[in-house]
Amino acid sequence: QKVHKTILLTGGAGFIGSHVVRLFVTKYANYKIINLDALTYAGNLENLSDVAQQENYSFIHGDITDAALLDSIFQEHQITHVIHLAAESHVDRSINDPLQFVKTNVIGTVQLLEACRKYWASDGDHLFYHVSTDEVYGSLGQTGLFTESTAYDPNSPYSASKASSDHFVRAYGETYGMPYIISNCSNNYGPHHFPEKLIPLFIKNILEEQPLPVYGDGNYTRDWLYVVDHAKAIDLAFHEGIPGETYNIGGHNEWRNIDLVHLLCDLMDDKLDRPIGSSRALISFVKDRPGHDLRYAIDATKIGNDLGWKPSVTFEEGLNKTLDWYLSHPSYLKTPAS
Ligand code: NAD
Repeated sequence: QKVHKTILLTGGAGFIGSHVVRLFVTKYANYKIINLDALTYAGNLENLSDVAQQENYSFIHGDITDAALLDSIFQEHQITHVIHLAAESHVDRSINDPLQFVKTNVIGTVQLLEACRKYWASDGDHLFYHVSTDEVYGSLGQTGLFTESTAYDPNSPYSASKASSDHFVRAYGETYGMPYIISNCSNNYGPHHFPEKLIPLFIKNILEEQPLPVYGDGNYTRDWLYVVDHAKAIDLAFHEGIPGETYNIGGHNEWRNIDLVHLLCDLMDDKLDRPIGSSRALISFVKDRPGHDLRYAIDATKIGNDLGWKPSVTFEEGLNKTLDWYLSHPSYLKTPAS
């Protein structure tokens, strides 16, 4: 069978990356998917155990900041497309160690762009697909939505590093004519999420009857999207999107943290046969995160209208699938954080 695309997918052992790998490997037998991942604390090859043996999949253990490695990968595998997800992704870690975020998210992205610039002919069939976040837009007040034309206004070292990487991708498009697409997505949840992030951490703590640390007054508001729907949106924008465009991806599903935590507690109580409401007693309000953005909310009209994307599951369905997955994979919640 003719190989139509040879895709270097970075960060495929992480949360979202593993869902994108799974989708592409199972859906596109005629693509080669090469997963480049440094296996940091957030990378876990177990996330891909069901697809690791597929013929169209291979894994390379390495760092996106390693220019010599990128050279050898581009030369040996004739990479035609990049889907870039590798990143340091946890806001709290970025507050403690901003330089690591600059290294991976900014320098790593530019190293990848450099490899593409070096090896891709200007008339070839190529695309640099950059996966980014709605956090680049900063914070909203009580009303309004982020659109693709909202000005960048990042507040955390994480979002500043992602904003910078987005700017570099766009600049390579403008300066060198590199074909690219950027998508900015809201908070993801679902299976294989590292248990330092809110939903898996709280599932773990509810199971173990440990405190549930809620920042500030719990009024922070986020838009949540099931990770499989994000992977499907990436698939769609990768294939049908217009190079040079940005697409916002979100669930039209805003939740105040405290309401989300109440919902999680009650769903878990139900699944664990505990009296409904009992886990709420574990909630403990903790000192706010510095530079904390009040509210993020995505206007996903463009990808809906232009590409026909919409989430395939409701929040209730997605959360139930997620809780059931963690309850049947309790060892995943034991993954040690370093
Ligand atoms: P994650 O932390 O779960 O996974 C990141 C992966 O990148 C890990 O497998 C890690 O080993 C790998 N990695 C880190 N540094 C690397 C390096 N220098 N070289 C090679 N590999 C490296 O992250 P995630 O939540 O899956 O996020 C993936 C992407 O999606 C990120 O770019 C993130 O900014 C973006 N994003 C995430 C969310 C979300 O809610 N999680 C929302 C929008 C956008």
